Amino acid sequence: MSESPVKKAVERCRGLGLRRTRALEELLATLIEAKRPMTLSELASSARLADQCDKATVYRLLQRLTGHGVLRRLGLHERAAYFTLLQPGKHSDYLICTGCGKIESITAPCPVHDLEEEIRETTGYKGLYHELEFFGTCPKCA
Ligand SMILES: [Zn+2]
Ligand SMILES: [Zn+2]
Repeated sequence: MSESPVKKAVERCRGLGLRRTRALEELLATLIEAKRPMTLSELASSARLADQCDKATVYRLLQRLTGHGVLRRLGLHERAAYFTLLQPGKHSDYLICTGCGKIESITAPCPVHDLEEEIRETTGYKGLYHELEFFGTCPKCA
């Protein structure tokens, strides 16, 4: 039996004691479908959420989910904060422009995969993960 990633994410939230709401489901579905980090404004104006709830509700939901470790906040500051879903077994490393706040996933093979394996073996930690953020100036801002 294979569950959809959205269902899995909703179940994880319920396991953490979060209330299952339409807004929660739509927000998780939007992030999963987008396959990239999104800002508060992008989420609030997205097709699934725009009719569902206002920006303040999306904001509170993002804060709560970040606090529970379901989402991770990326980026530089409040204005250019991006939110990404932490999914077990999946990860991205990111490139962030310090000029415009633009963020993108790095497509090159993960640079610290071997290191992660080594840490796992030497420390006995389970469920180890990482997400790297590289900062710099993008070609447009340079
Ligand atoms: Zn830039
Ligand atoms: Zn990585």
